[in-house]
Amino acid sequence: MDFALPEEHRLLRQTVARFTREYLLPLEKDVIRREAERGLTDLPLIDPEVEETLNQKAKAIGLYGIDVPEEYGGQNMGMLAKAVVIEELKTSITPYILPPDSPNLFMLKETCRGDQIKKYFIPYANGDKKSAIAITEPGAGSDPAGMKTRAEYKNGKWVLNGQKIFISHARRADFIVVMAVTDPAKGSRGGITAFLVDKDTPGMTIPSVFNTIGEHAPYGVFFDNVQLSDDQVLGDVGNGFGPMQNRLGVRRLEIACRALGYARRCLEMMIPQANERITFGKPLADRQSVQWWIADSFQEMEMVRLITWRLACKIDQGETNWRRDAAMVKLQGSEMIGRVVDRAMQMFGGMGMTKDLPLEYISRASRVWRVYEGASEIQRWFIARDLLRNGLPSD
Ligand SMILES: Cc1cc2nc3c(=O)[nH]c(=O)nc-3n(C[C@H](O)[C@H](O)[C@H](O)COP(=O)(O)OP(=O)(O)OC[C@H]3O[C@@H](n4cnc5c(N)ncnc54)[C@H](O)[C@@H]3O)c2cc1C
Repeated sequence: MDFALPEEHRLLRQTVARFTREYLLPLEKDVIRREAERGLTDLPLIDPEVEETLNQKAKAIGLYGIDVPEEYGGQNMGMLAKAVVIEELKTSITPYILPPDSPNLFMLKETCRGDQIKKYFIPYANGDKKSAIAITEPGAGSDPAGMKTRAEYKNGKWVLNGQKIFISHARRADFIVVMAVTDPAKGSRGGITAFLVDKDTPGMTIPSVFNTIGEHAPYGVFFDNVQLSDDQVLGDVGNGFGPMQNRLGVRRLEIACRALGYARRCLEMMIPQANERITFGKPLADRQSVQWWIADSFQEMEMVRLITWRLACKIDQGETNWRRDAAMVKLQGSEMIGRVVDRAMQMFGGMGMTKDLPLEYISRASRVWRVYEGASEIQRWFIARDLLRNGLPSD
C-alpha cells in the first residue's frame, strides 16, 4: 500500500495548478458578474470565446484526453489522474470542464459500436463534440426505473415520445444520450435502452430552462414522435440501465473531487483569515471555536480524499464492483463541502455573505451536489442495502 501520488500524477497536478492560477482564477469576478446578470436566462458563465481559448491553452499544455484510451489519441492516464485534475481545477470557482466530460466518455467507451465510434465516441473524446444525458423525468428522478419516455419499434425505426427535465447542457449538446423504456414489462431489468439523439433532430425540442440555486441552468427536453434508426441504439436494446449506472458512478467520483477542490480553496482562505483578523484584541486563531472549524474541515477533507483516491485506483485496476464506493465518496464529498464552506462563511462574517469572496458562490454551487446524481438519502439507502445484503466487505 502506497499513499504517495505517482510522480507522473504529481507533475500533472502541478501543471493543472498553474493553469488554474493563470487562467481560471482571473476569470472569477467575471463568472460572478455573469451569474448575477443572467437572471432567468441560460447565459453561460464563461463567455464561449473565452472557453474556446481555455480549451486551446489546455490542449497546448497536454491536458486533453487524460482518461481517453491511447488508440483514440488520448493519454489513458486513468481515473486517479482525472481525480487529481478535477480537484485542482475546482480550487477555482470558474466552472471550466476539461473536455471530454468523463462520465459520458466512460459510458460511450463501454457501449459505442461500429460507426458510432467514428461518429460519436472519437469526436467526443477529442473534445470536438459535446453531449448531455437525459434520464430524469417529472415523475422519475431518484427512481429512474419509473421513467415513462417510450421508444417503440415501428416499420424499422425507433419512435421516441416523452419528456425529460433538468437536463444539463442540453441546448449546447451535439447529441444527447436519452434513456427510454423499450419494454415496459421488464422495466430496469431488460426494458430500458439508451439512444443517441443528435441535436436538431425533428421532434426533439428544448423549450424550457430551470434556473437553479447553483451554476447550472438545466433544461426541459421533449420528444414528439422522434424517429431514430437502429444505429442510434447505444449498447444493447433493453440493457441501458447498467452502463447508465456505471456512468452515474463516475460522476459521483467526480463530485467528490470537486468538493475537495472547493474545500481546499475554503481552507486556503480560512487559515490566513484566522491568523490576521483581530477581534477583542486577539486574532480569531486564538479562539477554540475557530481552531475547531479549521481542524474539522481539514480532517474531513483528508478523509474524503482517501476514499476518493482509493475508488479511483480500484477503477484503474479494472475492478468492476465499485457502486458502493461511488455512493460513499459522493455522499461524503457533497456533505463535507457543505459543512466546510459554511464554517468558512461564518469565519468571514459579513464579508462571507458577499459576492466579493468566492465562498457564497461555492455554498450555492455545491448545494445541488446533495441532490443530483442521486440525493444523499439515496446514497445512504444504497450503501445500507448493499451491506445488509452482502455483509461487510472482506478486503
Ligand atoms: C442542477 C441540476 C442538474 C441536473 N442535471 C441532470 C442531467 O443532466 N440529467 C438528468 O437526467 N438529470 C439531471 N438532474 C436531475 C437530478 O438527477 C434529480 O433531480 C435527482 O436525481 C432527484 O430526483 P427528483 O428531483 O425527481 O427528486 P425526488 O426523486 O422526488 O426526490 C426528492 C427527495 O426525496 C428524498 N428521497 C427520494 N427517494 C428516497 C428514498 N428512497 N429514501 C429516502 N429519501 C428519498 C430525497 O431527499 C430527494 O432529494 C439535475 C438536477 C439538478 C438540480
